[in-house]
Amino acid sequence: MIEVKEPKKKIPVVGLISGMLTVSKYIFKKPVTVQYPEQKPELPDRFRFRIFLKLDDCVGCTLCEQVCPNHSINMQKVDRENPRNKRKIYPDVNFGTCTVCRNCQEICPTEAIYLDKEFETARTRNSFTYSPEELALKENEVIK
Ligand code: SF4
Ligand code: SF4
Repeated sequence: MIEVKEPKKKIPVVGLISGMLTVSKYIFKKPVTVQYPEQKPELPDRFRFRIFLKLDDCVGCTLCEQVCPNHSINMQKVDRENPRNKRKIYPDVNFGTCTVCRNCQEICPTEAIYLDKEFETARTRNSFTYSPEELALKENEVIK
């Protein structure tokens, strides 16, 4: 027969004191939370989020679409004159599925697609996909 050991009974006040000690350790430390959006967070130097596209530099090679592990990039027809992009195709990006892996930036032969520090991409429209033209805009110029 298996003998079941009774758990040791703790004195209730010990837990309370231990909790108070933990609180007192942090009470005079500078808080790590910020009152966003009134206060902006300090971002690490290497932080990157939002993807941008230089339309004139994109040659429509589709490498970014092929390398994206989440199929977040799809090539779209854009009717604009660009002698470097004869097929007139440019990537869009679905930020709802993008995991910010940076593969698209790494593989782009012309450095047309790149990630930058912008992170305030909240929106009211029911789509996280940025068209190629929207990728070329600053975040505050995109219609939300
Ligand atoms: S950062 Fe990664 S997941 Fe996001 S679009 Fe580029 S390749 Fe796809
Ligand atoms: S953004 Fe770069 S990798 Fe993507 S289609 Fe354009 S040139 Fe090719």
